[in-house]
Amino acid sequence: MACCGVRAAEPDAATALQCLLKAYPEVLVEVREDKAVISRNGEVFSYDEALADRSFESLLIRADLRAQMQTPYPAEPLTRGPAQDIDPGRIRSDRFFKALYGSTEAEVRKHIQAVYWAPCRCYLPFTQLNGAAAALRAVGDQIASDPVLMAYMTTPAGSFNWRNIAGTTRQSVHALAAAIDFRLPNNLGRYWRWDGCRTHTECPYPAALLADDVLPRIVRIFESNGFIWGGKWHHYDAMHFEFRPELTGPRCRD
Ligand SMILES: [Zn+2]
Repeated sequence: MACCGVRAAEPDAATALQCLLKAYPEVLVEVREDKAVISRNGEVFSYDEALADRSFESLLIRADLRAQMQTPYPAEPLTRGPAQDIDPGRIRSDRFFKALYGSTEAEVRKHIQAVYWAPCRCYLPFTQLNGAAAALRAVGDQIASDPVLMAYMTTPAGSFNWRNIAGTTRQSVHALAAAIDFRLPNNLGRYWRWDGCRTHTECPYPAALLADDVLPRIVRIFESNGFIWGGKWHHYDAMHFEFRPELTGPRCRD
């Protein structure tokens, strides 16, 4: 198992497509010839769209499923910062995600439910599609059973928000009600842009994120329920958790 900053091997198409099928059973119905997944309404999502430009910056703007799956998400806690442009899960197919959760604000809203978040005894809007709301509820219940963990997670800082990713014209997963941010204590809520990092410049990974011994326990609970953590990205976003079960299944992660 590769860990922590090393560029892990890209999965083969057959494995990756099965991970997608298993992750989104309410939307996807079959894998076709290890080349595509088919949605319930017949939409075809080719694994490899033979994109002319597969550079990191280009794939952030337009990705196929291969780009979405090509950087395995590490199952283990990081022991050092991820290598340049290793952002497992950050690259994703916009068309695919619109098919998963809705392509307009009204469509997304149709599937939102108020999820009880035990650490703040509050309710958070989250999509119920693909088991996301139930998974978030389970994460909160598990975290609330340990006061040490709960103290980190009492202040949600935004889930559903019909918006683009800061500094881009790309839609955020928050717009699909499938991501949530938390205000973290001890200067842990680090975000690469707020730390002065820019695209194509060296961005030192915050030592605080590696040193903290509570955060990995929280992250593991999220991951075991199908969420990825933005703190495992070179372009880190430590407040950010996103429902991405195609990357966290037993045969789907690094
Ligand atoms: Zn976020």
